[in-house]
Amino acid sequence: MSEPTAPLYEVFFSVQGEGLWVGMPQVFVRVRGCDLRCLYCDTPAAREERGEWALDLPGLPPRLAQPNPVPADCLLVLLDEWLRLPERPAAHSLALTGGEPLLYPDFVAALGRGLRSRGLPLYLETGGHHPEALAQVLEWVDFVALDCKLPSTLPEALAPEVFTRSAALAARLPFCVKMVVTDRISEAELEQAFRVLAEAAPCAPLVLQPVTGVSPAGGPPSGRHLLAWQALAGRFLSEVRVIPQCHRLLGVR
Ligand code: SF4
Repeated sequence: MSEPTAPLYEVFFSVQGEGLWVGMPQVFVRVRGCDLRCLYCDTPAAREERGEWALDLPGLPPRLAQPNPVPADCLLVLLDEWLRLPERPAAHSLALTGGEPLLYPDFVAALGRGLRSRGLPLYLETGGHHPEALAQVLEWVDFVALDCKLPSTLPEALAPEVFTRSAALAARLPFCVKMVVTDRISEAELEQAFRVLAEAAPCAPLVLQPVTGVSPAGGPPSGRHLLAWQALAGRFLSEVRVIPQCHRLLGVR
């Protein structure tokens, strides 16, 4: 059987800027490739499957223009180098992000298995539209940050069943659901999304994330709207937070 691989975009160290685990120090592994076209996408370069990748971890010399795709075992060997450094900063987990990591489920499972034996939890960020792949990797994942993509933020809406199946799976682990909201979103669209989420995973901690900057999806909603939408979500879900992209506020990656 061939070694599981994935095309990478970058490996770096920073703090989690979004969702329930905001502020936690993490190693970030960003894969290349994505099958969505979110109108607010803030990582368009990572959607390209072709291209090289770069590693920039504190304490290791930066490595630029590394070839793709990368076998999971090779990435683990590089991470071992970093994990062995006596002065390295502590990491809560490894955030696997993209792009869309679940385009490469064999790679995710192999990476998760390797991280488990090294004591570094795997925090998976996904668009929430690949439930079969999520089911395949779930046993090797420790945290899930699942996006709920509102129809008005995509060129074509996703089938709600795809998200509900993903949410039901993610709810078996510590997880949160992130919903990017803009000033073009209607209350009816939001109410429908809250309803679907509450049916799929009533315990879901929901994070309403105002979009950063202006994109074809729209600009950031006003504070008044955010508070009104948080109250609306609270009619369906018990834990609803409003959290912006904090890494942008901090000026870090
Ligand atoms: S899922 Fe992420 S990488 Fe893909 S288009 Fe949406 S925001 Fe961009």
